[in-house]
Amino acid sequence: MMSLCNKCKKKNAVYHRRYSGELLCKSCFIYSIEKKTLQTISKYSMLSFGQRIAVGVSGGKDSLALLHVLKKVSKNNNNEIIAITVDEGIEGYRNESLSLVKNFCKEEEIQLRIFSYKDLFGSSMDEAILERPSDKFSSCSICGTFRRRALDLASISLNADVLATAHNLDDYLQTFMINLFSGDVDRIGWMYPRPIEYSSGLKKIKPFVELYESEIVFYAFHSGIEFQTDQCPYMNESIRSEFRSFFNDLEKTHPGIKYNCFNSMNKLSKLVKSVENNHNMKNTCLNCGETSSNDICSVCTTIQMLEINKKNF
Ligand code: SF4
Ligand code: ZN
Repeated sequence: MMSLCNKCKKKNAVYHRRYSGELLCKSCFIYSIEKKTLQTISKYSMLSFGQRIAVGVSGGKDSLALLHVLKKVSKNNNNEIIAITVDEGIEGYRNESLSLVKNFCKEEEIQLRIFSYKDLFGSSMDEAILERPSDKFSSCSICGTFRRRALDLASISLNADVLATAHNLDDYLQTFMINLFSGDVDRIGWMYPRPIEYSSGLKKIKPFVELYESEIVFYAFHSGIEFQTDQCPYMNESIRSEFRSFFNDLEKTHPGIKYNCFNSMNKLSKLVKSVENNHNMKNTCLNCGETSSNDICSVCTTIQMLEINKKNF
């Protein structure tokens, strides 16, 4: 016999939250995700009344779910929402997600703006893969660098106060490990989820940072959100996939361990930040003038690397 939901005690449970032991029906599960997102927003002071929020939307489950939740919760806070989609220029992959995003925004009556790597940086991802020196720079490091800058430029051009992205707790743990294993310890100091205000005035927030990726998939599915399931053809080049499997395996045998790691990593982030206090992110790139911790920012370094390699063809 199916068990009853532990919360409402009326409907059949559809979800077993292993780390808390709860059994939840569909509506109580959906409510729990939206409530948790609101708690995260409030805990880290992510949003204020009347702010204009740009939401980075790829067409995957996380970003469409974030758009869905923010649309619901922003009504009471008088926030305006604009969806931003970045077209990386990956043949056969981005086309499907673009049409999913367009349909979703039309149905939810959300303004959508699309920006492409080709227009912003002179190379699509497919071109960048051919132009890069093969032994250096993984596809995801080029793409991640470009995406961060594309979202910043898009948000600023739309006069947004806040840029919201759908990074979840799993992404956070993976990024922490990547920074740790690549020697980028100072970056750990910038990971604490309280938003930092950049020199442009833009604040960046991650309202899903305390949610497991698996719960966001379940939320998107039960909220009737149609999302892209195809994987990017370049995905497997990333060490991120290996950390994802590592944490998922640990969580299977030790439910809740991801939350414990998240809390420890936040403490470490604060410690690193206090030690690295003289490391000032408000420096600007000597080439493009954008915020950077080095003399030349990572976007300019990547573009220069691609330009140099283009000439060597
Ligand atoms: Fe870009 Fe890597 Fe994501 Fe593909 S998997 S879209 S290359 S960051
Ligand atoms: Zn630069």
